[in-house]
Amino acid sequence: MKPHNFYAGPAILPQTVLEQAKNAVENFAGTGLSILEVSHRSKEVVAVIEEAEALVAELLGLPAGYHVFFLTGGASSQFFMTAMNLLDDSAAAGYVDTGSWSAKAIKEARQFGEIKVLASSKEDKYRHIPRGYEIPGGLSYLHLTSNNTIFGTQYFNWPDTDLPIVCDMSSDIFSQQIPIEKFGLIYAGAQKNMGPEGTTLVIVREDMLGKVKRSLPTMLDYRTFIGKQSSYNTPPVFPIYVSMLTMRWVRDMGGLSAMADRNRRKADLLYEEVDRNPCFECPVRFEDRSTMNAVFFPTAEAYEAPFLERCKREQILGIKGHRSAGGFRASIYNAMELDSVRHLVDVMSDFANEHA
Ligand SMILES: *Cc1c(COP(=O)(O)O)cnc(C)c1O
Repeated sequence: MKPHNFYAGPAILPQTVLEQAKNAVENFAGTGLSILEVSHRSKEVVAVIEEAEALVAELLGLPAGYHVFFLTGGASSQFFMTAMNLLDDSAAAGYVDTGSWSAKAIKEARQFGEIKVLASSKEDKYRHIPRGYEIPGGLSYLHLTSNNTIFGTQYFNWPDTDLPIVCDMSSDIFSQQIPIEKFGLIYAGAQKNMGPEGTTLVIVREDMLGKVKRSLPTMLDYRTFIGKQSSYNTPPVFPIYVSMLTMRWVRDMGGLSAMADRNRRKADLLYEEVDRNPCFECPVRFEDRSTMNAVFFPTAEAYEAPFLERCKREQILGIKGHRSAGGFRASIYNAMELDSVRHLVDVMSDFANEHA
């Protein structure tokens, strides 16, 4: 039997997607060739990229005026590319610091304009999502990180502002419905909740662009990619293909509201066990607990190593917390089945019966 995959990223993909991907590596779309060896200008590949872009629009309900690109460089390149394209030297943007990824985004953006950190949960070890902070006038945008992959917090409500939100959705894109009109730009590395590593999704609203005076290298200018089916140069075809298959799967499962229900059920099951179990505790504020990455700690240090050992024996992989956070982290992205979470919960419960 296949192990239960709780890795944070690269992460679990639907089994049917892996099977289709395998077939395409052997014989892609009846071409007799592998998808790894055909031209990105072939009609079969162009159709894949067009479908991938159309699925993004369909799943999120994108209104007219938004552009969708699949780029390379990871979400980490978007930390600077967003500011480079959207923030002029003399302008300011607001950032909310909810974890290591936000902090990196802030650091990179500072090279391009004034960055005002409007709120931070750092003093609280990133265990909550800040609320009720002042948003001053005159900002170009508000940058948020929708899901804190490392410390396990997530936004379920969005700040009440007319400022366009620029959002790193790397670890929870397509996990719930969002009020798309609040967002001026969304970016997401594929390898958490959308596909394999190797491509980064960018969604940008037309009116966000063309407002900076600096000159931009062609490959770092979003406008280069408009109307090019992500193929100004050679795109990462295989990661886009697998992302497209995964988005089809999300659609066929019922779309984002079905995903949100599915994710809520898995998360509730897991957090209820953590709260009930004497061997574990979750420090994250209840209403901010992520449905994607459940972070929890042993109540005594002596539980840590034996629990990890036990998980290994039970075919539970990837449960060790991020090196900067410690403890445990169960990543339960869209593709994770409820049965795998049930298995983890059973193992936690047995562990407590034996150790507590
Ligand atoms: C993983 C992750 C990143 C970094 O992604 P790369 O594609 O490795 O650059 C950025 N932001 C968040 C929220 C992440 O989870």
